[in-house]
Amino acid sequence: MLLEGQSVNEKNHLTIGGCDSVELCEKYGTPLYVIDEDVVRGHCRLYKGAIDKCYDGKGLIFFASKALCVKAVVKMVQSEGLGVDVVSGGELYTALAAGMEPEKICMHGNNKTDDEIDYAVKSGVGRIVVDNVPELEKIDKAAAKYGVKQKILFRIKPGIDAHTHNFIMTGQIDSKFGFALETGEAEDAVLKVLEYENLVVGGVHCHVGSQIFESEPFKEAAKVLIDFIANIKEKSGYEMAELNLGGGYGVTYTEKDDPIRFDKYIEEVSVVVKAVCEEKGVALPFIMMEPGRSIVGTAGVTLYTVGAVKEIPNIRKYVSVDGGMCDNPRYILYQSEYTALAANKAGDEKTEKVTIAGKCCESGDLVGENMALQSVEAGDIIAVLTTGAYNYSMASNYNRVCRAAMVAVKNGESRLIVKRESYEDLVRNDI
Ligand SMILES: *Cc1c(COP(=O)(O)O)cnc(C)c1O
Repeated sequence: MLLEGQSVNEKNHLTIGGCDSVELCEKYGTPLYVIDEDVVRGHCRLYKGAIDKCYDGKGLIFFASKALCVKAVVKMVQSEGLGVDVVSGGELYTALAAGMEPEKICMHGNNKTDDEIDYAVKSGVGRIVVDNVPELEKIDKAAAKYGVKQKILFRIKPGIDAHTHNFIMTGQIDSKFGFALETGEAEDAVLKVLEYENLVVGGVHCHVGSQIFESEPFKEAAKVLIDFIANIKEKSGYEMAELNLGGGYGVTYTEKDDPIRFDKYIEEVSVVVKAVCEEKGVALPFIMMEPGRSIVGTAGVTLYTVGAVKEIPNIRKYVSVDGGMCDNPRYILYQSEYTALAANKAGDEKTEKVTIAGKCCESGDLVGENMALQSVEAGDIIAVLTTGAYNYSMASNYNRVCRAAMVAVKNGESRLIVKRESYEDLVRNDI
C-alpha cells in the first residue's frame, strides 16, 4: 500500500513528493519526518472547495494545529486560506509566529489558564470556544481590559460518542469537554452570557470524536446543535449565527481503513444542515470545521534506520529502529496500527511479519506488531506511513532522545522545516 504522492523509483526506492527517501536519509539523517506539501495543500483545497460548493463559501475551515503544530505547516494552510485552531498558549504563539491572521484563529481548551485567556484576547483571536461558566467571567474581564468585544462559541456535548465503531447517542454527558444539553447547563450558560457586555455570542461548537469513517455522527450532531440554536431563539429571541462541527474525519493508516473523500462527507452533512435549518426556522449559519488528522495525517512519512534484528524462534522477529515512542507515541498510547515498508527495497514483496521496536527503555515502545515487511537487515531504511498527525506534536524527549528533524518535500525538492534537536538543546533549561 502506498498513498498519494508516493511511488517507487528505478532504484527500487520509495519516493515521497518526488524525492528519493533514501537520499533524504543520507542528507538529513534518521529518524526523519517527511511532509508532502502538495498533499497537505490538496487536502486544504478539498475542504475549502467543499465549503464553497455546499455553503456558498459561507464558512471557514480551521486546521486543528494540535495535529502538527510547526510554523511551516501553519504557513501552508494559511496560504490556502484556512484558519487554525489552537488549544494552548504555545499553539497560539506558533500560529502567530507563522503569520496567521489573528481573526482566523480559534482558541479552544477545557481549562484555559488566565494567562492564556489574556494572551488570546490581547492577540485579537477571532473566536474563543468557551468550555465552562467560570471562563465567561474571565474572558469578559480580559475583553474589557483590552477594550474589545470578544466573540465566543459554546462547546456543547451533543450526546454522541463517535469514538466507538458504531457511534452511540448516550453516555457523552461524562466528558471533561463542554456543556451538557440534557441538564440545561448549556442553555443556562448561553442565556447568562447575553448579559455580559464584552462578549458576543457567535454560536455553538461540538467535536464528536476522531478517526471517524461515517457521516452519520456529524449529521446527528448538526441536528442536535441546530435544534439548540432554535431553542435559544425561542427562549431569548437571540439567533446564534455560527455552527462549528469540529474535526474527526478518518484517514488511511492500513489497508483496513477506507475513508470516503471528505468533500463527500461535507456534502452529505450540508444536505441535513440545510433541511434542519429550514424545518426549525433558523437562518443557515456560518459553517466551521476543524480537521486536523485529515489535513496532515497521510502527508507524513517517518523514515528510520534499522539497527539490530533479533529473531526469537517460534515467537517473533524484532526489527529495531533508531526511533519509536519518542517520535511516535501512538502505539504505546493506543496500540495504533500503521503500514511500514523497507524504503530502499520498496518494490519488493513483503514476505515477513515482524515487530518493529523502538530504542527506548520500555517494552511497550514499539512501532507495531505483526507488521508486514520486506526482509530487512541492519542499515536498511524503514518508512512508516501516515505519521503526519499526532506524531511530532506528541513527541517527547524520554531517555533524552533528541526530537527528529522534519523536512517538507514538493516536486522533487526538499527543505528542512524543523531542525533536529541537539544535545545542547536537551540541557538548555537545566540549571
Ligand atoms: C482534536 C480536535 C480536532 C481535530 O480532530 P481530528 O481528528 O484531528 O480531525 C478538532 N476540534 C477539536 C475541538 C479537537 O479536540
